[in-house]
Amino acid sequence: MTIAKRQFDTLVIGAGGGGLRAALQLARAEASVAVVSKVFPTRSHTVAAQGGMNAALANVLPDSWHWHMYDTVKGSDYLGDQDAIEYMCRSASNLVVELEHAGVPFSRLDNGKIYQRPFGGQSQNFGGDQAARTCAAADRTGHAILHTLYQQNIRAKTHFFDEYFAIDLIKDEEGFILGALVLEIETGEPLLIEAKTTLLATGGAGQLFRTNTNAHINTGDGLAMALRAGIPLQDMEFFQFHPTGIAGRGMLITEGARGEGGYLTNRDGERFMERYAPHARDLASRDVVSRAIATEVREGRGCGDNRDHVMLKLDHLGRDVLYKRLPGICDTVKTFLHIDPAEESIPVFPTAHYTMGGIPTDRHGRVVVPVEQGQESIPGLYAAGECACVSVHGANRLGGNSLLDIVVFGRAAGNDIIEYLNDNRYHRPLPQESVEQAMAHLQRWEQKGEGESVPALKRELQSTMENYCGVFRSEEILQQGLDKVLGLEQRMQDVRLKDHSKIFNTARIEALELENLMDIAIATVSSALGRRESRGAHSRMDYPDRDDQRWLKHSLYYKEQHRLDYKPVTLKPMTVESFPPKARVY
Ligand SMILES: Cc1cc2nc3c(=O)[nH]c(=O)nc-3n(C[C@H](O)[C@H](O)[C@H](O)COP(=O)(O)OP(=O)(O)OC[C@H]3O[C@@H](n4cnc5c(N)ncnc54)[C@H](O)[C@@H]3O)c2cc1C
Repeated sequence: MTIAKRQFDTLVIGAGGGGLRAALQLARAEASVAVVSKVFPTRSHTVAAQGGMNAALANVLPDSWHWHMYDTVKGSDYLGDQDAIEYMCRSASNLVVELEHAGVPFSRLDNGKIYQRPFGGQSQNFGGDQAARTCAAADRTGHAILHTLYQQNIRAKTHFFDEYFAIDLIKDEEGFILGALVLEIETGEPLLIEAKTTLLATGGAGQLFRTNTNAHINTGDGLAMALRAGIPLQDMEFFQFHPTGIAGRGMLITEGARGEGGYLTNRDGERFMERYAPHARDLASRDVVSRAIATEVREGRGCGDNRDHVMLKLDHLGRDVLYKRLPGICDTVKTFLHIDPAEESIPVFPTAHYTMGGIPTDRHGRVVVPVEQGQESIPGLYAAGECACVSVHGANRLGGNSLLDIVVFGRAAGNDIIEYLNDNRYHRPLPQESVEQAMAHLQRWEQKGEGESVPALKRELQSTMENYCGVFRSEEILQQGLDKVLGLEQRMQDVRLKDHSKIFNTARIEALELENLMDIAIATVSSALGRRESRGAHSRMDYPDRDDQRWLKHSLYYKEQHRLDYKPVTLKPMTVESFPPKARVY
């Protein structure tokens, strides 16, 4: 079969903030860039980001990038790589100003400077008073950033392939990544995009869990593509549960709501966070607040008839503040709960939110794999954004650090790709075998006959992950979870599509996404089973303490034989003293 082919210097898979920031850097340097996205770019999930982006601008309270770095290392429960964290926190202020100049309409203080709100885990002076570090465009910061980056890319003449689904990477015998096979969703036709460099920026995998804050498109496709190309995934056991999803439904109520002065109460009306985090209270790190809520509910102090949630109180903030600073939240609560947050508290419970693990990269966005002496990069392959694990979030991400991560490392990857292109001027021959493998993957879905259905299996996978790999974990529960997920993966072979038409066949896309979710679920539960300690978002009831002696290391999961390996954490920053691990209290 002849497959249509296009050639570019760089293929960027993903048009969220990570992909678009990288593409912009490249297009401005006059590289030919193709951005592929399975949805129209401005529908990418970055659009949903609410509360803001961290940078130590010190517009509201005193601040410094070094304090931001300390908070991020502590927030990561010391699993974050300190060189990458230093790089990110140092770059933050410039990147916010750059976004402002590009057109992002940040909210303003009375003196005209960018508005900043307090967020969880932020402190002044290395653990002192609460800081106010999160730069916000009301509670629609992601929307503002994504639209601005898209417009700037249009201006820079980036080439967009809207509504194309990336299936697999193309890799030659020497290990070079040479582009990807993609599917045009509108026509159902495959297309080979040949590129000297490929950047994965496909976002997170929140659809692993039944209750989540993520869009339906967040199925971790890039992570699974990396696994199939023989690349391990790093730290997949660390999945963030956001403390305040609307109970039972999952929609996010931004941490900015607590940043503006909201607080949590249990069935006795008690501000229970005072018991769990006497200093930071409701603005402790997300893992701490999520565990506190889950504990209140487990111990019978939950609210409602089923005592299965707690309440987020905002009404004392007043209608003016709520509708000016949190208009999106007011809308969401009215639409989904038919209540007015200026009058009534909001029922909330932790909900799956953010993929801390991902494709291992260095701080230049190069995908790296371990070799006998250290690690080496995969030639031609980069990753940035939520699908990457650089690792600045370690075992727990601080709110406001992801929008920062995507622009910092999107830009860094763009810069490194420009250098790579200078040294690698020509396209390498495309390996037929790899192309055929990718085509076989796609054609598997042409099998006809009776079989299981994609939506039913997806629902089972999501409930299994929720029940067996949630906020609190143990050997027994995780082992049961792994057995169940492996069983579901087996059943994938019996799944058949009923609709084999070509034009806009979303059933085929959902099948490809489910295959990806299966791989990531196995990676997540296997890594969680492997780590016998509690750190950040990974909370083991059978190993309740952090164990730096044995577990201050990153995990690596390989698809082949579900193998686990480990690699050291980079404790040495670029220029400043290291923050050595210590007890983490808020
Ligand atoms: C509700 C919500 C609120 C949040 N609020 C904040 C906040 O206030 N501050 C903060 O710092 N972080 C926040 N986050 C986290 C942050 O928004 C995300 O981590 C970040 O935007 C991810 O950006 P990204 O570029 O990595 O991926 P995304 O924006 O998710 O984009 C992924 C892109 O990949 C494409 N793609 C995926 N798979 C394929 C495929 N197979 N083929 C082709 N294209 C593909 C998609 O079409 C999309 O264009 C929030 C997250 C959520 C869910």
